[in-house]
Amino acid sequence: MTTIYLDNNATTKIDPEVLDEMMPFLTDYYGNPSSMHNFGGQVSSHIAKARHRLASLLNAQPDEIIFTAGGTESDNTAIYSALEAQPGKKHLITTRVEHPAILNVCRHLEQRGYEVTYLNVDTKGQLDLDELRNAIRPDTALVTIMYANSETGVMFPMQEIAEIVKDRGVMMHTDAVQAVGKIEINLQEFPVDYLSLSGHKIHGPKGIGALYVRKGVSFRPHLRGGHQEHGRRAGTENTASIVGLGKAAELAQINMEIENTGVKHMRDVLEKGLLKSIPEAIINGDTESRLPNTTNISFKHVEGEAILLMMDGFGIAASSGSACTSGSLEPSHVLRAMGVPFTFAHGSIRFSLSRFNSDDEIKVVLKELPPIIKRLREISPYKDDDSVEAPTRPCSC
Ligand SMILES: *Cc1c(COP(=O)(O)O)cnc(C)c1O
Repeated sequence: MTTIYLDNNATTKIDPEVLDEMMPFLTDYYGNPSSMHNFGGQVSSHIAKARHRLASLLNAQPDEIIFTAGGTESDNTAIYSALEAQPGKKHLITTRVEHPAILNVCRHLEQRGYEVTYLNVDTKGQLDLDELRNAIRPDTALVTIMYANSETGVMFPMQEIAEIVKDRGVMMHTDAVQAVGKIEINLQEFPVDYLSLSGHKIHGPKGIGALYVRKGVSFRPHLRGGHQEHGRRAGTENTASIVGLGKAAELAQINMEIENTGVKHMRDVLEKGLLKSIPEAIINGDTESRLPNTTNISFKHVEGEAILLMMDGFGIAASSGSACTSGSLEPSHVLRAMGVPFTFAHGSIRFSLSRFNSDDEIKVVLKELPPIIKRLREISPYKDDDSVEAPTRPCSC
């Protein structure tokens, strides 16, 4: 059975062209780019090329790009850098709907004497910019707000947010892992200090990412050791993956148009088709400001996990909006922050598409999913329950 892969916000397929460019650096060109001899030294020109390609995608300068081991490391590095550079400032601002790579760092910092303001979102998953304005204080070290939400695809008005924060003279980071490659980002006009991205979300390899640090902005390294990355990130370069990320960035630039036409069209056909054929289904998130590849749909009175399992039987791979945490099946922190009622939040499915999907795959989902929901509703123990809160019950996973 072939897989219909609709979980591209979790990770993406490596583009075959990316793999082709990587292979020589896993075989013949294994030299250390820092070596004096030409065998190693020749590799460094390929790292430079990758840095150029990534900078070009973001309209940044190559020396503003630091290669890291992924989005998580970039997020951690940005936060700790901002705090170390401003030791007197003990306050951070973020949102309730960030990726764990931000939220769990913030929680850790709270235990170590920092204060964190978590901005709320409304039922569409959008921020109240006045709440942001009012949260900024003289001791605010950093505002870190994601560009686009991985679960719902909701995009925040980042240009406006960055301008508000920079007008107040506060450092600004954005986790743009889900936005890079899908929408245009122009760092000449978008005044953030730090920006995180990840290779495996843009058809590049896993375990590689980058942190953009604007020229002139304070930076403190997270990893110390060798002089790699101009002393900003120690450790022998992951050459093959850096080359892969560079190629993925080049291809993202070339294919960005497709994300906003072909991919978006498939997403819309899927979404409209499901809403038409399945009663009591709702879209989660601001449909006016959303990534072109993502739809998060809730089906009332069914369990997301059950839907995923039954779709798996047809080779359809997506993800659900609930996770098994602390012994109970809880709706995700994003859907909870949006106040999605329990009866809906529990049956939420995220479909995230890519340029490797096809119209025929969408047709398969539109054919197979409605009967799955119908069948699950017939056997649902919650069908007469309209509660907003989760009932206490044991975890089934
Ligand atoms: C995937 C993701 C990350 C983590 O990136 P990794 O490269 O997997 O460490 C961080 N933030 C967001 C929004 C993501 O989607």
